[in-house]
Amino acid sequence: MSVLDELQKLAAGTAKTVTQKSSDIVEAARLNIAINAEEDKIQKLQLAIGRRIYEEYACNGAIAGDAAGDVAGLCAQASILEGNARDMKSKLYSLRNVKECPKCKEVLDADMVFCYSCGHRQDEPAEYADESGAGSGDPGGAAVEPVEFVRSDGGDTGADED
Ligand SMILES: [Zn+2]
Repeated sequence: MSVLDELQKLAAGTAKTVTQKSSDIVEAARLNIAINAEEDKIQKLQLAIGRRIYEEYACNGAIAGDAAGDVAGLCAQASILEGNARDMKSKLYSLRNVKECPKCKEVLDADMVFCYSCGHRQDEPAEYADESGAGSGDPGGAAVEPVEFVRSDGGDTGADED
């Protein structure tokens, strides 16, 4: 086979792969945007958490009562958003045929056995990594709707009638 033939064959193969993968590229872009949006929300929540803690400390010299409850609620929201972002990232990584080192979070080629950054062997879980149960069937169910952090009470008592 001539070099030209081989090149043509190679080019044809490449073109086919590119067409097949274009939907993946669109999906990857969509996931990237969604992940950024989620991380933006997480940052805002973290800011609100910090603000709430500081506010309480400035007023009372301690963090207790309502403030502790508020902060716990905000932390719970942030943690749900982080779970969403993590799910989307793992989809994105499988589209790109890469993976994240469970230990140091470096992004690696999917077939790498050792992390080039921290040296962690990829088929062994990181010592702390038991939060993502491998192959758990439930994709999360209902969409998460973060509650606005508002100070004033909304009129949602339901029991008040004249
Ligand atoms: Zn690593």
